[in-house]
Amino acid sequence: MKYDYLVVGAGPFGSIFAYEATKRGKRVLVIDKREHVGGNLYCKPIAGINVHWYGAHIFHTSNKSVWDYVNQFATFNHFTNAPLANYKGTLLNLPFNMNTFNRLWGVNTPEQAKQIIAEQRKNYGVSNPKNLEEQAINLVGLDIYEKLIKGYTEKQWGRPCTELPAFIIKRLPVRYTFDNNYFTDIYQGIPVGGYNVLFDKWLKDIDVTLNADYFENRTMYEGMAEKIIFTGMIDQYYDYEFGELEYRSLRFEHELLESDNYQGNAVINYTDRETEFTRIIEHKHFEFGQAPKTVITREYPQDYTKDVEPYYPINDALNNEIYEKYRQKAEKEAHVIFGGRLGQYRYFDMHHIIENVLKLVDTEFDNQ
Ligand code: FAD
Repeated sequence: MKYDYLVVGAGPFGSIFAYEATKRGKRVLVIDKREHVGGNLYCKPIAGINVHWYGAHIFHTSNKSVWDYVNQFATFNHFTNAPLANYKGTLLNLPFNMNTFNRLWGVNTPEQAKQIIAEQRKNYGVSNPKNLEEQAINLVGLDIYEKLIKGYTEKQWGRPCTELPAFIIKRLPVRYTFDNNYFTDIYQGIPVGGYNVLFDKWLKDIDVTLNADYFENRTMYEGMAEKIIFTGMIDQYYDYEFGELEYRSLRFEHELLESDNYQGNAVINYTDRETEFTRIIEHKHFEFGQAPKTVITREYPQDYTKDVEPYYPINDALNNEIYEKYRQKAEKEAHVIFGGRLGQYRYFDMHHIIENVLKLVDTEFDNQ
């Protein structure tokens, strides 16, 4: 066989595996059905701006070894995610914090804000929440629920909050400081030059075939390598024999504008129900860009069908049960390893993916 490993999918899971295997002298072929590498981190250069083509990607982690690992391949800037919510024309800070409460209610101290939230929870809450709406009001009161949670959540899931189960929201962190930093991780940033810089390094001396769907030439690919690292959909790999796993999908509408600054922030969520999209991303702000034009992306949640991208696994009881059957079958495979968000049917942030693939590298090569 020509290769030791066939890696299906040139996202971060597949590309890091390919890099680490090649470093250890293995022969690797990477294939991807898209016309580019990078998976969902891919940045398309438009008018001098790195456009996050599959949605905003902000790298954050508290794991020092993951941070040190990625910093070998790129310089990360000091971008801090501080999104805003636009509720019917009023801009409010996220995650909800003292800046938000000051704007909503004119309060200046944590004690005043706590008092308002406590009163609203008492007035509108119920003792035994039966759905997401009741659960959210119980946690943060009516104002925050109506202005910042309700519309956004209904658009994301395509269903009214009264029809969504309460367990989706276990807790809603309320921050009683004037801190707009969305993440609490120690490390955060965007690679200078965009995420493609990482993939250029990871895949530099590796055979990569693009526009190549594994399922269109399965027998040929299987005959090319001793082992497969598979980061596509696990249910498709097994021809859906235990049933189809469900996902939520997204549609991105990208627009190049003549303006040099459209919204003054990288991420603005639209939290009303009437606006169809959930957020607008202005990509140049991820890298403090000075380009004369700007590119914005409107993000529309949509149902998943086989013609669109599967973005978010729906890990409810039924889907998890189906996945478990695939997982047990996959565990017995001697020549195939499933990894990444589609292979393991889980939402993973980028730092989780890096942790997971580096663990696999350790076991696969026994710390070579
Ligand atoms: P992917 O990046 O999806 O790569 C899988 C690759 O496999 C794709 O290129 C695909 O084309 C290819 N493939 C699939 N099937 C086949 C096949 N049959 N044949 C050939 N190729 C195939 N994480 C963060 O840490 N911070 C963020 O801010 C963040 N924002 C996100 C925003 C959105 C909208 C989404 C959807 C995710 C976000 N994530 C974020 C998560 C991040 O995208 C994932 O952690 C990461 O993409 C997972 O890497 P992966 O290699 O598993 O999968």
